[in-house]
Amino acid sequence: MPAYRAPRGTRDLLPQDQLAISRLRALGEELAQRYGYHPIATPLFERVEVFERGIGEITDVVEKELFLLAPRDEDGGERWALRPEPTAGIVRAYVQHGMHSWPQPVKVTTTAEMFRYDRPQAGRYRSFWQFDVEAIGDPGPAVDAEIIELADRFYRMAGLDRFTILLNSIGDPVCRPAYVAELTAYYRAHEAELPPTELARLERNPLRILDSKDESTAALNAAAPKVTDRLCDACAEHFAGVVAHLEALGVAYTLEPRLVRGLDYYTRTAFEVFPAGSSGQQSAIGGGGRYDCLVELLGGRPTPGIGFGLGLDRVLLALRDAGSSPEIDAPEPSPVAVVVGSEPGDTVSRLRVATELRAKGLAARAELGTRKLGKQLEAAARDGAHFAVIIGDELAGSHVQVRDLEAGTQRAVAVDDLPRELERATKTHRHGLVEAGPPLAAGEG
Ligand code: AMP
Repeated sequence: MPAYRAPRGTRDLLPQDQLAISRLRALGEELAQRYGYHPIATPLFERVEVFERGIGEITDVVEKELFLLAPRDEDGGERWALRPEPTAGIVRAYVQHGMHSWPQPVKVTTTAEMFRYDRPQAGRYRSFWQFDVEAIGDPGPAVDAEIIELADRFYRMAGLDRFTILLNSIGDPVCRPAYVAELTAYYRAHEAELPPTELARLERNPLRILDSKDESTAALNAAAPKVTDRLCDACAEHFAGVVAHLEALGVAYTLEPRLVRGLDYYTRTAFEVFPAGSSGQQSAIGGGGRYDCLVELLGGRPTPGIGFGLGLDRVLLALRDAGSSPEIDAPEPSPVAVVVGSEPGDTVSRLRVATELRAKGLAARAELGTRKLGKQLEAAARDGAHFAVIIGDELAGSHVQVRDLEAGTQRAVAVDDLPRELERATKTHRHGLVEAGPPLAAGEG
């Protein structure tokens, strides 16, 4: 047992996992750019108030899951927390930098780590990656559909075909209060059937009961009044617009009137995505929605907004579960060449040749150990390199041998021509640098 391990709820992304996450990230960045979203980065931590005001004090994320940083006197006792989600920080930046005077909507994207002090379990980490987009300043409904279609495309391009997009509208400050009052009265009438955790929610945030993970509350929830039956005309029209645009784009969705999302700031459109065959909250691979009150809550002028956060760690889990991750999990490209030498101690020559190849843009490794040539060549083959560049004493160092490790052939190449030769060989015929020259006998070298 090692003395130190990664903190509970976190994990190290070793090269294979980190490569896969990087590819998902690159896919998101490329897609977001294609849809007109510009990159943005905000600090890893913010004043606690940004999250309290933005996300809502009576949510799990703020009540229990914030990673608080210990304040120091010299900072005037400001309280900070690691970001549990990106929207509040981005909206804080929108207000701070006066982005309301930029052309609207302001469309930004970030892919970053989020932190929640949650109870760790499969697929639920205390540190995880989100691919996020935000369109601030557009009331929709067309942009709502555009964003949902972007999410849909992201999953498909990542290799995931079987997933469900749950869609709902949760109203706005005009119609939601009456709905919440009706819902509260409904649950009050059934108090005896509510478990303690849900009873506590009834007092503070009854909408969250609809989101309950508790089995016994499910029947109660099924019979509860539906928010979509209580939308005001403006919200109903907006929701119909979102649906009509999704239909026009051919994006499949499932209406789910019990979807409320965990954060307080949502208005109108809310959506969440689950891989096929799962519905547990810890398997959601993404979610998003409209937050028309958030800019104002954080001190800006009233400005509508919508965005999503897709959980890359969970997308990777879902891809691997479905056995559909060949591209995301493809091995790293092998080096084009490994530079080896007949003089075990001459690391200078090997490193110099490899450095020249790298300067010319070629992926090359140099054998930096002082083992015998045979062992060096074995290691080169294990690296999956196409070529071994063998430095001998040929013509006083003006030439090297280039061995095609697949074909088993080799020939002399002038050192000056080496980068060009290797480049040409990898471009034109990957496994056939050598046109002439006999295959080597086994064990030679
Ligand atoms: P949320 O804002 O909670 O809907 O989160 C958006 C997405 O981030 C979720 O759909 C998940 O894919 C992902 N996510 C949220 N919390 C976690 C977590 N603790 N561990 C891993 N992924 C998470």
